[in-house]
Amino acid sequence: MANQTSGEAILMAALSTLPPAQLSDLTNSISTLFRRRHCRLSSVLSSPTLFSLTLHHLHSLSLHHKSLLIARHLLYNLILLKNSMQGASAAAATPLYPSASMKLRDLDAVLLLLLLCEIHQHDSRELLETPPSQWRILLHNHVSANILNLSRFGGFSACEVLNEYIEMVAKCSSFVNVMACGGELGKAGTGVAAAAAAVVALPSVAVSAGGECVICKEETKEGREVCELPCGHYFHWMCILRWLRKRNTCPCCRYRLPTDDVRREIDRVFEDLARIAGGVDGGCFCT
Ligand SMILES: [Zn+2]
Ligand SMILES: [Zn+2]
Repeated sequence: MANQTSGEAILMAALSTLPPAQLSDLTNSISTLFRRRHCRLSSVLSSPTLFSLTLHHLHSLSLHHKSLLIARHLLYNLILLKNSMQGASAAAATPLYPSASMKLRDLDAVLLLLLLCEIHQHDSRELLETPPSQWRILLHNHVSANILNLSRFGGFSACEVLNEYIEMVAKCSSFVNVMACGGELGKAGTGVAAAAAAVVALPSVAVSAGGECVICKEETKEGREVCELPCGHYFHWMCILRWLRKRNTCPCCRYRLPTDDVRREIDRVFEDLARIAGGVDGGCFCT
């Protein structure tokens, strides 16, 4: 398993390749994201009803699901960086990452979970010695005490925002690694189906000049509707749909479509970041 430092090294290298304008755009998106999350967490902590619903939801989740939620959260954060490195136009052409999307109640749960983990790491006795009925007040006080830290995102240096971002990614990575140890997430080396949402979003195009579908070796006739993958290769719909049920790669160039396997997607974004940053041994986040 790659250690936390290699993930941080990749992020640092990736950030260092960004031109100043892109870096400042990224910093702005990150501060906005942090502020939005802080508001969400504050609402959960201010409302006894919402808090108990969220805590109840969290309790109902298995360890596997909790780990999956943090992994999705991590993936979302990494995609933010990746999109900003590829520029707006390339980002718009990037296929959807269905595995990074999250319902509001899951977002609340993951924010609460991360806060509980943070407090537990900070002082494990504090939570143990407080009855769960008092947790909301405890967490609320903890967040209020740190409000100065958060409010500084308003006008503080890009460097601080980015440090906070790297720290958050590192923290989530280590939770995912610890919680998924021996789990069923991220079996490397086996074929995995492309995410259904990504397949549904594939465009249908009319063949302008005859060619060949490499899956069935038959001709693609002019005027016929075929499926075009984001890499530009096209195939008969029936052929590619059958193919993508077992694999997520283009039969011609091995371009990868997103999968529903969150850990695999995290690895992939780390690999992409390492490649774009260049020269960094990306390795694997969770081999
Ligand atoms: Zn075919
Ligand atoms: Zn291709």
